[in-house]
Amino acid sequence: MSFENMGLEPEFLRALEERGYTEPTPIQKEAIPVALEGRDLVGSAQTGTGKTAAFLLPILQRLGGGKRGKTRALILVPTRELAEQVLNSARAYGKFSKLKYAAVYGGVGMEPQTRALKSGVDIVVATPGRFLDHMGRGHVDSTKLEVLVLDEADRMLDMGFAHDVNKILDSLPVERQTLFFSATISADVDRLARRALNDHAAVEIGHRTEAAEGIEHVLVAVDKTEKRGVLAKKLEEMPHGRTLVFTRTKYGADKLARHLRKEGANVTAIHGGKTQASRNKALDRFKKGKVRVLVATDVAARGIDVDNIAMVVNYDVPRDPEIYVHRVGRTARAGARGVALTLMSPDESMMMWGVEKFMGRTFHRHVVPGFEPAVAPVQPREIKPVRRAGRGLGSRRGGARRR
Ligand code: AMP
Repeated sequence: MSFENMGLEPEFLRALEERGYTEPTPIQKEAIPVALEGRDLVGSAQTGTGKTAAFLLPILQRLGGGKRGKTRALILVPTRELAEQVLNSARAYGKFSKLKYAAVYGGVGMEPQTRALKSGVDIVVATPGRFLDHMGRGHVDSTKLEVLVLDEADRMLDMGFAHDVNKILDSLPVERQTLFFSATISADVDRLARRALNDHAAVEIGHRTEAAEGIEHVLVAVDKTEKRGVLAKKLEEMPHGRTLVFTRTKYGADKLARHLRKEGANVTAIHGGKTQASRNKALDRFKKGKVRVLVATDVAARGIDVDNIAMVVNYDVPRDPEIYVHRVGRTARAGARGVALTLMSPDESMMMWGVEKFMGRTFHRHVVPGFEPAVAPVQPREIKPVRRAGRGLGSRRGGARRR
């Protein structure tokens, strides 16, 4: 399946060619034909799988020339960073179409957004709270809405947007196409999906908890005090490619960055305690390859869109298995390969087991010579893989299946 034989019009093929995309990613192969048929879908896909193009291309094609002065597609996203990213992607993929777009999100003034909305945009990318604000003030007319996208639905729920999203759903035309994406599909996400979608026609794509293929998961058992030593050594062994290191706390992020710098690594840290300007600067340096290692907390890393991350490091085992999937999804994007290194101290072994149960697989506990933990790690029993019909994400055999 190539972009050409998916039924995309030449203007989009041209835009894709300009972006240098030669082959669709697995989720694009599955989602684009389904969405082009006008059907609803639930996609289990994290950042890095190419999901943005998977929903944008069919929408752009469906809306065609635009210019009806009413909002015809609404894309709900959890954060302003993601809103900006989706808007930029829409501009890129829709380069040769005449559609108008706007992004609306909180934390900035209403006025420019109001002006944009009132000028009549075809596609609105929005965070739920700010969209409701505009709706309440009559700045958007969504009575002619044709397509709704919920992107990173799990994150929207995590961030407390359930109420806002439900309110938006209640106000939209029932006859519409809904495309629903979430990295993970918990019971709450499933409930939201059922509410948002025309259940009978929805096609489900992607495996529910599988992180992108192409990721090599490396689990190292090590005492807490030795973690930074192991990390410095791993960075030395892998001198090429960008590395994103996650720590649980801001304090931990700074301290670790300082230590790694002393060990000679080219490193910077971003976290919620820094100003937006300094975060942007650090991110920019990382993107441009001026720093190779970025230490970040989960909150600060939200919405980071950097390709070619060779290694993601869980300096602490995440408390929530879904966070593990999110974090490691930053590497091995768009078919590339990547390493997910997790440093596990003895007190974190239960949390790691939680991650493994969630992923449906166990990881071998490695020890690094010179950094052996005081108590040798215990290898848990194998988890029998549950085979689902039509498994998807990244799978060559993966086919769409009906719910
Ligand atoms: P996303 O998962 O939508 O955030 O996309 C992840 C990254 O992959 C983005 O930087 C896209 O520009 C890139 N990408 C999306 N589709 C393709 C493709 N078919 N070929 C190469 N890169 C792609």
